[in-house]
Amino acid sequence: MVEYPFATEEQKELAQIARTIMEKELKPRLHEFENANDGKGIFPLDVLKKMAEAGFYCMDIPEEWGGLGLDVVTKCIIQEEMSKVDAGFTFNMNGAGMNWPYLLKTKMPDEEKQMWIDRMLAGDATGAFCFTEPQAGSDAAAIKTTAVHDEEKGEWIINGTKCFVTNGPCADYFIVAAWTDKTKSAGKGITLFFVEKDRGVQVGSIENKLGLKLSMTSDVIFDEIRVPDDHMVGAEGSAFIQFMQELDAVRVEGMIYSVGIAQAAVDEAVKYAKVRQTFGKRIIDHEALNFKLADMQIRTDASRALLYQGAQMIKAGLSLGTISSSTKCFVTESTMQTTLDAVQVLGGYGYMKDYPVEKLMRDAKIFCIFDGTNEINRMVIGRLLDKKY
Ligand SMILES: Cc1cc2nc3c(=O)[nH]c(=O)nc-3n(C[C@H](O)[C@H](O)[C@H](O)COP(=O)(O)OP(=O)(O)OC[C@H]3O[C@@H](n4cnc5c(N)ncnc54)[C@H](O)[C@@H]3O)c2cc1C
Repeated sequence: MVEYPFATEEQKELAQIARTIMEKELKPRLHEFENANDGKGIFPLDVLKKMAEAGFYCMDIPEEWGGLGLDVVTKCIIQEEMSKVDAGFTFNMNGAGMNWPYLLKTKMPDEEKQMWIDRMLAGDATGAFCFTEPQAGSDAAAIKTTAVHDEEKGEWIINGTKCFVTNGPCADYFIVAAWTDKTKSAGKGITLFFVEKDRGVQVGSIENKLGLKLSMTSDVIFDEIRVPDDHMVGAEGSAFIQFMQELDAVRVEGMIYSVGIAQAAVDEAVKYAKVRQTFGKRIIDHEALNFKLADMQIRTDASRALLYQGAQMIKAGLSLGTISSSTKCFVTESTMQTTLDAVQVLGGYGYMKDYPVEKLMRDAKIFCIFDGTNEINRMVIGRLLDKKY
């Protein structure tokens, strides 16, 4: 059920269709997908294909390129419903399909761009964003990957190893950050490139994560990979500016999976509390438990309100200011607590894999870590406050 009170009938209907596909195609096989690859999990490409056929993959690609051009708020409403079924799949689907704006910012011929866009819309192409390296996570400027220009051939030669790449194992193309001028600062010396996998990009083994098992993560290795000049994304030296602008929005809309997890945790906990009996009454009738459930919903309601306010601001083209990092920290920490509480409400059963809440707890944690850790996001807010007063 769509919870966002300002959702239109059309938005509700779209979200319900997306959720129904997830319930039918994914939910019955969730256990199989979680345990695939010796427990490392799998991103099921057949389910992605079904979502693409229904128009939910790359749903924001503009109409002039053949997409539906859905706005950020509609996307959030749809993805919140999908995340209630599985946040890992929803997150990976979005990560795999959100890189099309970088493709459009290259100087590749329009026919080549359209070919990629058509493949994306059909669910036949996925991408991945490669910035992080083993020694460069929060400190993104510490990356070592380089791109050296071959003047004669009009190509860039990329060398370096990226880690923790979402959708790395499946991706058909990569957006990769590399130093193009080490004499400059990171803000002016790092550049993004569009790199097709079949240029020889190697992919490491699937990481064995705590949760979010339907999202696959791996190293991605660029060893003497050559791309033509027209594969540069935007201007030379603009990677940091593009990345930071993107992050501002991602810290809002990218937390919708976390809101979905939180509401799923509340729903499961309430369902259980209404049937489990102790001391002659339903556990929901014990005040301590009842208040815990209320706190879970309070946090989830507040998270949703904050996130959709941010999404509306993005849609309206307003500057997010502190709202971006505030949303990131508040939503993710609220959801972490709410999923811990859900496990508590289910008692011993909550700790068992036969019940869904331990998975929600495992899935929730990563949202406090990526897209800038919550410590880094607090630093961002602190800096903005310092500038403001
Ligand atoms: C599942 C998963 C998927 C990911 N997907 C992608 C992806 O698709 N593409 C990509 O490029 N990256 C991706 N990442 C990388 C992710 O963005 C980084 O893990 C994250 O930025 C943190 O970097 P780190 O792991 O190196 O931690 P570190 O930067 O080493 O931080 C370790 C700890 O120190 C704290 N810390 C660091 N600096 C400071 C400071 N100045 N003040 C206070 N505390 C500080 C951090 O908050 C953290 O608690 C992914 C990571 C994971 C786990």
